[in-house]
Amino acid sequence: MLVLHTLHALTLVSHPDTKWRDLLPPLEGEQPQWASLYSTLVPRPVRDISWRLLHGAVSTGTYLARFTPVPDTCPFCGVRETLAHVYLECARLQPLFQLLTNLLLCFWLHFSSHLFIYALPICGPTKLWDLLVNLLLALAKMAIYKTREEEVGRWSFLRLWGRFSILGPFTYPGGVPLGGIHQLP
Ligand SMILES: [Zn+2]
Repeated sequence: MLVLHTLHALTLVSHPDTKWRDLLPPLEGEQPQWASLYSTLVPRPVRDISWRLLHGAVSTGTYLARFTPVPDTCPFCGVRETLAHVYLECARLQPLFQLLTNLLLCFWLHFSSHLFIYALPICGPTKLWDLLVNLLLALAKMAIYKTREEEVGRWSFLRLWGRFSILGPFTYPGGVPLGGIHQLP
C-alpha cells in the first residue's frame, strides 16, 4: 500500500499543473493564477470554464477526432482545431481581443495571450480593478466556449440532416452545408 501511495504521489508531482506550460510557456516569474479564477465576482459556470481551460479540459476538434467521426478542423475557419487555435489563434477572435485590448487599457494593462490564459494576480492595492479585469477575461473565455459549442452543434445538425436531403444544397467553400431547409411534404 505504501508503494502504491508513493507511486501515486510521484505521478502527481511529475504531472504539469496546466497544459499551457507547453503551449504558452510562462514568462519568467509568471504562474497560473488559479485563485484569481475563483473570485466571488465571477459567476460559477464562467469560472468553471476558465478553470477547465487552464487545465486543458475543454473539447477541441483534434481531441474529439481521436474517438469520434468528427472533423478535426475549426468550424469557423477550417484550420486544424487545437486548444491554442480555439482560444488564442483563430482569426474570429481578433475583434474580441481588440475589444479586450481597448478595455484593459482603461486599467493601465496590456492585453496578451499570457494574461488571457493565466489570469491576473489579485493584489491588495488594486484588488477591485484586478477582480474586474479577471471577470472580463473569464467572460471572454466563456463567450469563445459557448459560440464554439453552438457552431459545432449547428455543423452536426446540418451534417446529419443533409444526408437525408432535407437541407438545401447551399455550401460554403469548406464544403459544409449552410442551410436552406426545404419545406417538408
Ligand atoms: Zn478557427
